[in-house]
Amino acid sequence: MERKDLVIIGSGPAGLSAALTAKNRNLDFLIFGSGRVSEKVAKAHRITNYLAAFQSQMEHEGISIRSERIGTVYAMGDYLSLQVGPEMIETRSVILATGAAVGKPYPGEDELLGNGVSYCATCDGNFYQNRPVAVIGGSREAEPEAAFLADICSEVLYFPLYDEIGSLPEQVKILRKRPKEIRRNTGADVQEGRVLLETDGGTYASDCIFVLRAAVAPDKLVPGLAAEKGHVTVDRKMATNLPGVYAAGDLTGVPYQYMKSAGEGNVAAVSAALYVQEVKKKEKEAQA
Ligand code: FAD
Repeated sequence: MERKDLVIIGSGPAGLSAALTAKNRNLDFLIFGSGRVSEKVAKAHRITNYLAAFQSQMEHEGISIRSERIGTVYAMGDYLSLQVGPEMIETRSVILATGAAVGKPYPGEDELLGNGVSYCATCDGNFYQNRPVAVIGGSREAEPEAAFLADICSEVLYFPLYDEIGSLPEQVKILRKRPKEIRRNTGADVQEGRVLLETDGGTYASDCIFVLRAAVAPDKLVPGLAAEKGHVTVDRKMATNLPGVYAAGDLTGVPYQYMKSAGEGNVAAVSAALYVQEVKKKEKEAQA
């Protein structure tokens, strides 16, 4: 498998700035994120202007954004392995630019994660073919994932946490209820063993609940990553506790500002470039 120098996760101000620096540093890299660049930025008119300049420079540099969600990042020692749907990608370094993780886990969510709760429909949807599932959609970015589930599952209940629905197939059942708790049904009834979503307007049973927040907590995206109160711990080089893993933008902490995010993205990419240089030197020495 071809190993990339760098993968950037996130296409907001931090990720885009990192991508432009990575391009200038001649790194062999990929960038993943949203087709709308960043849902947050799409809502902020003044930033849209700022990012329009970024986007046209990306186009000018021939950098394209891949729209798949990254499921999990595994630190393997001298490289990192990323789960992107059914595909695994190997890279020497990663920049996390996924924005601030919004929302605490629901009661029961952590306990059932991987066993009735999933954060990635593309990664886990196929386990639930022809079975009923529920989706908690944190933003419009969850809609393509729900549409994918509608193609393969017998039922998709959709609980949007936002106002304006973009586009969903008609077989997706939209329910405007506030989720409160997730638990497994242990009662000896027709729903035995199913996962239950308690809401402010009733209880809904399914085989898996896909919790699709705009960004998952960073230490869930990267097992072993040091984080405090939802923010990744970084030094001045934007390095985390894991070799080759850097973080930039809202997910490193306040102030949540686009200039701070872009600046950190730049620093993270410079640091990643220096790190990759060292790793490649060691790889060459090992081969000699
Ligand atoms: P984000 O912009 O949040 O981008 C995160 C990116 O990561 C997105 O592209 C998302 O799709 C992607 N992503 C997340 N998880 C994954 C995954 N698992 N796989 C692949 N991609 C993933 N700031 C200012 O300075 N001035 C303002 O006037 C201002 N106004 C604002 C108005 C509003 C309404 C809002 C919501 C915010 C505003 N902000 C403002 C804050 C500013 O938008 C943020 O500080 C900035 O967008 C943070 O950039 P970021 O790159 O860290 O993350």
